Amino acid sequence: MGKRINKYLKINNNNKSVRKANLTGVKHIFIKYLSILIKNIKSIGSYLLSIIFPEDGMCLICRKDKLNKDFICLCCEKNIKSKEGSSYIKIEEEVLKYYSTSYYSHEIRDLLMRFKYKKDFNVGRFFAYSILEVIDKQHIEFDYICYVPASKSGIKARGYDQSKILASIIREYNNKTILHCINRNNNTREQKTLSSEERWENLKEAFYFDNRFKDKIKDKKVILIDDVVTTGATVYYCYKQLKNNGAKEINILTVAKSKL
Ligand SMILES: [Zn+2]
Repeated sequence: MGKRINKYLKINNNNKSVRKANLTGVKHIFIKYLSILIKNIKSIGSYLLSIIFPEDGMCLICRKDKLNKDFICLCCEKNIKSKEGSSYIKIEEEVLKYYSTSYYSHEIRDLLMRFKYKKDFNVGRFFAYSILEVIDKQHIEFDYICYVPASKSGIKARGYDQSKILASIIREYNNKTILHCINRNNNTREQKTLSSEERWENLKEAFYFDNRFKDKIKDKKVILIDDVVTTGATVYYCYKQLKNNGAKEINILTVAKSKL
């Protein structure tokens, strides 16, 4: 993970001297951010987040100087079990392909907790870059970005929707639009307390498509973003909503692949 991420970095932090130069050029960076903010009001939230939580040159995990690496140091990178290629969810006669950037290691679990519950948006940026890397490696083409929406109670408790934030960061690096076309019913239970069968049952009626986007999505290629795949029920039912409403091609991209 991370080898081709540099392509997406706005600030090259490859060595200390470059970092020093970047510090002196903070005015430039500020002006750059400001002009982007003015140009693209839609991304205002995530740009503000990256200003509030700037990349500081330290490893996200051990907080030591990460030297030439992006986001995490070489040592911590070894502990993250990166995932190469695609995975599959088998549902009766159907087989659904999806991509995850890594397995659900302790390190990834801790990072996910920080991103999801502690407003650590630098971690979100790291995850988004990792997804961008998969898009690049797999040559995935798309017209729109969709995401698995969090429950309203989850958003209320945490103050934000983590997959929507990932989608917003991914959007910064291409000229695509986020389609907020999947909605989530309020009556679903918290997934992590349920067994595999209960999870599938719990989410059966959880998602619905906003018909205002029907014309837009017809015959289009979309990517569907989510944080963790466990049973696959969440991404499967969201995939179904996109497919049944006319999307031509759907690539599912997630941060981590977990087991129950
Ligand atoms: Zn480290």
